[in-house]
Amino acid sequence: MIRDQGLISVEQYMGLCNALYYATRDPLGAAGDFTTAPEISQMFGEIVGGVLADCWLRAGAPPNAAYVELGPGRGTLAADALRVLRHAGFAGAVHFVETSPLLRDAQRRRHPQADWHDSLVTIPAGQPLLLVANEFFDALSIRQWVGAKERRILFEGDRLEFDVNGAIREDSPARDAVAWEIGAQLDVRGGVALIIDYGHVKTGLGETLQAVRSHRYSDVLANPGEQDLTAHVDFEALAKAASIGSIKVTRVVCQGKWLERLGIGARAAALAEAHPERGQEIASERARLCDADAMGELFKVMAIHSANWPSPAGFDE
Ligand code: SAH
Repeated sequence: MIRDQGLISVEQYMGLCNALYYATRDPLGAAGDFTTAPEISQMFGEIVGGVLADCWLRAGAPPNAAYVELGPGRGTLAADALRVLRHAGFAGAVHFVETSPLLRDAQRRRHPQADWHDSLVTIPAGQPLLLVANEFFDALSIRQWVGAKERRILFEGDRLEFDVNGAIREDSPARDAVAWEIGAQLDVRGGVALIIDYGHVKTGLGETLQAVRSHRYSDVLANPGEQDLTAHVDFEALAKAASIGSIKVTRVVCQGKWLERLGIGARAAALAEAHPERGQEIASERARLCDADAMGELFKVMAIHSANWPSPAGFDE
């Protein structure tokens, strides 16, 4: 496309590269490019499931509510969250929004009863949503701006280069559109959404687009479609886009603080007691999820819920 057109935007580049990347591999885990929170420990998905179960019970346990996940990866988070939800009496449908055929297959092996969608709009009407998106928004395309000029990519000889450099600002119509859709769907159906990702609480300046390959940072313009492209999630922008009708958005809290408040310490202790030989391992998994020098502060959690559903636990100071 660049050879044909001369230039493409960062937004187009990121969208095309990631579509190819996710369609052609399972990027998760030690043998892949990066490891996500649910792949580190079952405790992460269990706490997500516990928060959703608590909300669902306080909402009166509507039997038609559905578990919905955006970009479920290997289906690990869904497996851990649903184990807790089922234990609480939840027996609703499971819907996955996933574009990669390869990851859909991996998800189908673990969740044969699930339904797959390209977006939220095809989920059957009337079902309130228990929605989760973990490390989903960071993979959606961003735009970069240098002043009023949208940054683009071209060839310099055989090398890809940016057309302009300077002080960069980022935004993301793709993310805003999904956040808006979550707000719109929750406003009509009722329910709650948990958004977990790495990013910042307030809209700011600066370049955050990055490439990761085999657990190392790589050049963004190298190996197009063969490395993970992500950018920090601007939670202020997501909150703004989702705030429609009578939708409520919680404050944004750090993942570490959120998990600690919701009892990851007690869960780690119970697991270590049941499996004493894994005690050290469980402690280091908790540290990876919660410590400030690991995922604890960079990753943030925010919830969006309809006015007729309760606010989920873990967000009050
Ligand atoms: N949530 C999982 C996986 C994160 S990787 C975990 O925490 O382990 C990002 C996921 O989002 C993958 O499943 C990927 O295929 C999916 N994805 C990326 N872009 C997407 C898009 N535009 N629409 C739907 N799914 C997408």
